[in-house]
Amino acid sequence: AEMVLARDVVGFETRGPVRAVRFADESSIAARTVLVASGVSYRLLDAPGLGELAGRGVYYGASASEARSCEGDDVYVVGAANSAGQAVLNIARYARRVVMLVRSDALDKAMSKYLVERIGATDNVEVRLHSEVVAGRGTDHLEGLTVLDHTTATKDDVSANWLFAFIGATPRTDWLGDDVVRDERGFVITGPDVLLRKECGSRWPLTRAPFALETSVPGVFAAGDVRLDSMKRVASAVGEGAMSVYLVHRYLATI
Ligand SMILES: Cc1cc2nc3c(=O)[nH]c(=O)nc-3n(C[C@H](O)[C@H](O)[C@H](O)COP(=O)(O)OP(=O)(O)OC[C@H]3O[C@@H](n4cnc5c(N)ncnc54)[C@H](O)[C@@H]3O)c2cc1C
Repeated sequence: AEMVLARDVVGFETRGPVRAVRFADESSIAARTVLVASGVSYRLLDAPGLGELAGRGVYYGASASEARSCEGDDVYVVGAANSAGQAVLNIARYARRVVMLVRSDALDKAMSKYLVERIGATDNVEVRLHSEVVAGRGTDHLEGLTVLDHTTATKDDVSANWLFAFIGATPRTDWLGDDVVRDERGFVITGPDVLLRKECGSRWPLTRAPFALETSVPGVFAAGDVRLDSMKRVASAVGEGAMSVYLVHRYLATI
């Protein structure tokens, strides 16, 4: 086995049975199969002062350990989809108060009803609609935020040591070019979906059905966050990686 470290893949191409990845210097590695596991980039808040505090009070996504670090503090959460709702309920178990900043006029626009109800029933969660963070402050760690209320057009400077943002993720799939079909957000379509999703049309070229995790290009597999409908968890990404080894062997036996 050979490992290539610290180099960005910038392109992908198929040449007959060859599946090749390309680097910025135009060199490439040719193989019979490729596993795409390039993950996602979390969308960042576009407000002055927050960029330099990422990882120091400002977090994109949250794990259980980060929620515990906020014990007894006030926590601000940006986002209004299910990931934000689940995080709010988790953080509320430890924080003194959780303030949800929601740009729209209602919480139930992008969040499941059961989460909206549970948030409504949690005493230490406050939901601020029509609100967004427009600035952050702090030297070594987040110390304060400026929150804009669109209803009153007023800005509020608040003390805050913790800000968690759940504003979406973009798959790192630009390098894949046109052959490997993705959905409208860029997530790689795999397995039975290759035959079912409209984006794939009649691209699948073989008489056999695609293997699980196989993309619209036979012999190219996708695992982890980059895959459409993946669970966005470490355990599932690792599991899919392990599963793809078996699937690669199955594919190699067919060519
Ligand atoms: C703040 C945060 C907290 C989280 N907490 C948890 C948690 O508590 N529990 C949990 O289960 N999950 C958690 N997750 C989710 C978990 O991290 C992901 O589900 C998991 O890492 C996905 O693994 P992956 O291999 O698909 O992608 P990644 O871990 O993102 O790995 C992708 C790799 O591909 C590389 N790459 C991308 N593009 C290219 C390219 N063009 N060329 C070369 N290399 C490239 C990247 O540099 C990266 O190393 C959290 C995520 C975040 C952001």
